Amino acid sequence: MKIICIGRNYGLHAKELGNEIPDKPVIFCKPDTALLKNNEPFYLPDFSSDIHHEVEVVVKIDKAGKTILPAFARNYYSQVTLGIDFTARDLQNELKSKGLPWELAKAFDNSAVIGNFMSIEHIDISNISFTLNKNGQQVQEGNTRDMLFSIDAIISFVSRYFTLKTGDLIFTGTPAGVGKVAIGDRLQGMIGTKEMFNFEVR
Ligand code: MG
Repeated sequence: MKIICIGRNYGLHAKELGNEIPDKPVIFCKPDTALLKNNEPFYLPDFSSDIHHEVEVVVKIDKAGKTILPAFARNYYSQVTLGIDFTARDLQNELKSKGLPWELAKAFDNSAVIGNFMSIEHIDISNISFTLNKNGQQVQEGNTRDMLFSIDAIISFVSRYFTLKTGDLIFTGTPAGVGKVAIGDRLQGMIGTKEMFNFEVR
């Protein structure tokens, strides 16, 4: 499986990092070794002193497809969860300033946290409200209606370049409020009032 991530998909987050609003989705990938699930703890890596949380809605692909039209994208997924796209912001800023790829800052082990998936059968996916709490305090809040590129638009765009396969995951971008995590922090992700993940930083 592969993990496809969207950058700068919420206007306020693009601005908080001083980035322009993109006219096409910004795409990067993480390997399967980046996955962290079942509320296992996240261990701070030794190569960064500025690891940021980015809470994101994550879509699981459940049917293979290529060059999917937006109108048919909905047939390719049936479950979502919340996840964290952990980012070594110091490394990313260094790589960005040199015009280099971001993988070292984005695709490292355990950088792709996923919660428990839930069916979207009775959910309006264009109006999913979600939050991230750090040590009981809300630090990020978003709603999928504020995405610059909708889930269906992302699937359509990405599938022109990468064949999507069953089990692939798409991280759909973070809203504003990203920030640093420290040892001992507890991160809890909620969709509405439903807890999707809850784990510790060590
Ligand atoms: Mg992100």
